Amino acid sequence: MRSTAKWLDRVLRTPVGKLLKPRSGLLFVLSVVGIEEEGPRNTRTNTKERLVRFSVISWIVGPSLLRLRLRCDSTMKQMVNILLLALLVVTSLCASDQVITKKQPDAVPSDKGRGILVTYIANEGVLVSAGDKQVLIDALHREYKFAYAFPPPDLLRSLESAASPYNKIDLILVTHIHGDHFHPLSVGLHLQNNPKARLVSSEQIAEGVKKDFSGFGTIEKRVDRVPHEWKRKVELNVAGINLKGLGLKHSGANFSWIQNLGYIVELNGTKILHIGDADMTEENFSSLGLVEEKIDVAFIPYWFLLSNTGRAIVQNQIRAKHVIAVHVPPAEAAQVAEQVKLAYPGALTFTHILETTPVPFKIFQSPFTIPS
Ligand SMILES: [Zn+2]
Repeated sequence: MRSTAKWLDRVLRTPVGKLLKPRSGLLFVLSVVGIEEEGPRNTRTNTKERLVRFSVISWIVGPSLLRLRLRCDSTMKQMVNILLLALLVVTSLCASDQVITKKQPDAVPSDKGRGILVTYIANEGVLVSAGDKQVLIDALHREYKFAYAFPPPDLLRSLESAASPYNKIDLILVTHIHGDHFHPLSVGLHLQNNPKARLVSSEQIAEGVKKDFSGFGTIEKRVDRVPHEWKRKVELNVAGINLKGLGLKHSGANFSWIQNLGYIVELNGTKILHIGDADMTEENFSSLGLVEEKIDVAFIPYWFLLSNTGRAIVQNQIRAKHVIAVHVPPAEAAQVAEQVKLAYPGALTFTHILETTPVPFKIFQSPFTIPS
């Protein structure tokens, strides 16, 4: 021990040692700051970080204790021995998983201030996240028709098994029963694998899951049915989240039987609107008082933004601060994004699976200066 101490002492007196010591102090501060800031986001147990902590603590405290030990009488030596042992324990703990293992990641990084983060899943599927609340809308579906985007196999597996980072979803909302928005097994499996999650949707969706998902009995209590009545708005609070179900008509005469529920969800002082495949008529929206809701971000099927009628609805009946175009066919993604940019400046178009944006958008142009 004495020779090690002497050796360390000698090393620290050399020009390199003198250089290393103050730097290790700085490194220590930086590593602590880095770990604090990164904490909840990081997905991995970072071995490099553990080693930095280990070596930094040893570098700072170790040599001082060893030097002290050299100058002490036998009683003091014992105390220093205990301190050295404690140092060994602390550094070992630092190097172990238990101390530095990161918290499970949020599905997307959580936002501490006002505002939310939105992650595109596929087609009209989005994950909305704010602080410790997460809402999945129209995101649990499988391959349906070639024209529509769907979660690729790895993502689908994670969503259905509620694997990290999809293990903290509070609320699952489904606008309607079409296969590019909903799959009964995907919804059932997620609910079964994530005991915290609640499903809020129409009678048709609840019955769809009941019919096709054999484990329905185990999740039934977490299924909330919202009556779908055209032009009617239903207020709810589920999982501590304020939301409203909107009785909207589905587009197309063939689909008048579909219960298409829109949603207004309030998270972190931010209001989100999702309209599913709502019919593009003024009448469909005019009784819902959406302008008075002061919507922050609206998910709108892209064809609304490419048509005069649709733009008029978005501007006059919805008037959201931010617009995100969804339901973009993968084969035409680049072209549609370009068209939306021209037709509705300021709107974002979701085209890449798992792309994420904060709302308010960082770069924002008023959507109300539309070229005619
Ligand atoms: Zn549909």
